Amino acid sequence: MSETTVTSPAPRSGSTSRKVPRIVILGGGTVGLYSARRLRRRLGNREAAIVVVDPRPYMTYAPFLPEAAAGSIDPRHVVAPHRRALKGVDVLQGKVSEIKHGERTVQVTPEEGEPYWITYDHLIVALGSVSRTLPIPGLAEQAIGFKNVEEAIAVRNHVLDRIDRASSTWDPELRRRMLTFTFVGGGFAGVEAIAEVEDMARDAVKQYSSIEADDLRFVLVEGSRRILPEVSEELGGYTLEQLRKRNIEVHLSTFLNSCVDGNVVLSDKTEFGSETIVWTAGVKANPVLANSDLPLDKLGRVICLPTLQIADADGNVVPDAYAAGDCAAVPDLLNPGSFCPPNAQHATREGNHLADNLARVLRSAEPTDYKHKNIGAVASLGMYKGVAQFLGFIKVRGPFAWFLHRTYHVYAMPTLNRKVSIIAGWTANLLWRREVVPLGSMHDPRAEFRAASVPPKPKEEPKAADQSATPAAEVKPAAAKA
Ligand SMILES: Cc1cc2nc3c(=O)[nH]c(=O)nc-3n(C[C@H](O)[C@H](O)[C@H](O)COP(=O)(O)OP(=O)(O)OC[C@H]3O[C@@H](n4cnc5c(N)ncnc54)[C@H](O)[C@@H]3O)c2cc1C
Repeated sequence: MSETTVTSPAPRSGSTSRKVPRIVILGGGTVGLYSARRLRRRLGNREAAIVVVDPRPYMTYAPFLPEAAAGSIDPRHVVAPHRRALKGVDVLQGKVSEIKHGERTVQVTPEEGEPYWITYDHLIVALGSVSRTLPIPGLAEQAIGFKNVEEAIAVRNHVLDRIDRASSTWDPELRRRMLTFTFVGGGFAGVEAIAEVEDMARDAVKQYSSIEADDLRFVLVEGSRRILPEVSEELGGYTLEQLRKRNIEVHLSTFLNSCVDGNVVLSDKTEFGSETIVWTAGVKANPVLANSDLPLDKLGRVICLPTLQIADADGNVVPDAYAAGDCAAVPDLLNPGSFCPPNAQHATREGNHLADNLARVLRSAEPTDYKHKNIGAVASLGMYKGVAQFLGFIKVRGPFAWFLHRTYHVYAMPTLNRKVSIIAGWTANLLWRREVVPLGSMHDPRAEFRAASVPPKPKEEPKAADQSATPAAEVKPAAAKA
């Protein structure tokens, strides 16, 4: 793709004339949304113009993705639309493809059209992370990630669709493959995803006379010796026990070796067919950062000071540049020697802290250090099931933990409108039970129309008499020239 020399798509807030400094925020996820909102509250329109760049028109509240996949929350309600949530902020839809901080410009590649460059005075890097994958045979072709709302919807529809198809299949081997669901990665995302989806599938098969709950096979593969490293060993052990009680097969200290054509081979020699493979085995910093002149650490994260200012390897501040969230190596001052883990608890707070610091710097004050003591972790394991741990020693299990999970995340979900919609949806589900209809065809909505379409008539072959006329007409100019 060739690139244009456009220097700015002219954001609205009168910033083209640069009467006010322009702050460009790369990524409109957790850090991007929180920092943009906080900056807009702190700084008037005459103090700063704010631009957010993201290929998606919304921020996704990822902790609710497992519930969205399970149909407990309408997927539309786990996203906060930028245009609505970011009043007074310019939003550009497109992917950041290159960062030249030395020249204070970033290249934006829109979904359609040529890439262009925008200039800025201050930069916030909030590009998040992508799934960390391994070169496993068959993985790219067979598996799906679980990082965004599109994937959560696809997993839900795929699982329900397999159940639906299996109910009309006589071939026992094919049926087993369709009803075997494999999740790789036993961290928060993987455990919540498998637990929620299994709960939904168990609910769904009640509607089928030909499928029993015992026909479903859910397999969790985890490379380390335990699941949920985010909570204590005891609570992780409790969760493992709960999953196993539900007949979820958990393989610890085990790796996925291959999954070519859905034939799963694990490092403990287990082999089985599975048409559903969900990959939740960790994240890595957004790889687009490699296409920048910003200082990165060995893991590809932007190096930061505790003030969330970007710094070089010697700790010297890179002027006018800030970063936070999954894409940044932010020192954890309360655990010296380590970095803040990539989670929403830190991302929301870092976003706000970063905005406060940038506002301070713009007003010639000193930025302050980011410090946050982990308040705990909550996980939902399906309807009325959960685990929670607070302040390191308060451990809760079962329905109360599930209730705490919902309460905490509704509180943390941005925008009042989304909070109310989620609670309304949960209430409706309590009264009428959640909907478990597969809408698999929505992933190729044009298929039926394509099949019904009448192909255009082929051009009529010129008649024999005309055939002699055409070349004559074509050679005319040459003949004329001669
Ligand atoms: C399934 C799941 C469950 C989770 N559950 C929990 C939980 O229970 N508790 C918890 O604390 N944390 C949880 N997390 C982690 C948490 O959601 C993340 O740590 C947090 O969202 C990170 O925020 P961020 O702003 O760094 O990245 P994100 O919120 O991911 O935002 C990154 C943004 O950058 C955009 N972007 C990507 N590439 C480009 C590009 N080239 N140009 C421009 N924009 C780009 C993306 O579209 C996105 O909007 C969960 C994560 C997942 C996936």
